Amino acid sequence: MNIGVLAVQGAFAEHVSMLEKMNVASFEIRKKSDLDKHFDGLILPGGESTVMGKLLIDLDMLSLIRDYINNGMPVFGTCAGMILLAKKIEDTKASHIATMDITVMRNAYGRQLGSFNAVSEFLNERINMPFIRAPYIKTVGSEVKVLTAIDGKIVAAQQNNQLAVAFHPELTEETAVHEHFLNIIKKKINLTNAN
Ligand code: GLN
Repeated sequence: MNIGVLAVQGAFAEHVSMLEKMNVASFEIRKKSDLDKHFDGLILPGGESTVMGKLLIDLDMLSLIRDYINNGMPVFGTCAGMILLAKKIEDTKASHIATMDITVMRNAYGRQLGSFNAVSEFLNERINMPFIRAPYIKTVGSEVKVLTAIDGKIVAAQQNNQLAVAFHPELTEETAVHEHFLNIIKKKINLTNAN
């Protein structure tokens, strides 16, 4: 299994180290030709979604990534990565990859609460959830499963092979969210091999 980690901006190195720790091969996707390499899953890291979205257009990668995801490529977006996946970003007309049926609210916790740690449940496991100028998910479409909500705000969700979290599991020692993503990939590989 090989994971492509989008590395045009933001906290991609932390995902690469997390995968290393889990003994999973990965490589950085920096330019369009990197998308020609074989990968079984794609990680969209945290960072600044407007900058990343613009870079994806400038580097001519946006529509290719969208096509991969629409064709079933497992994708995992954290924080800004979640914003890239959202079909709708509250209070703007902008959207980026726009494959996941969620409406997100950017910088949703106000200035003072810009960064904080929460401990909450992700698939029956209590884990640390570091939030950094994080978004949350305001509404989800009918195909989206809510995985975690804190104080009524959705912070983790899944739509088939698309997983999005508002926080940064790659900054913790806990691997539960990455493991869940790897399970999505394994399931897809098994289904493909069975056909
Ligand atoms: N505030 C950033 C954005 O709107 C997201 C922050 C993050 O990824 N840590 O893109």
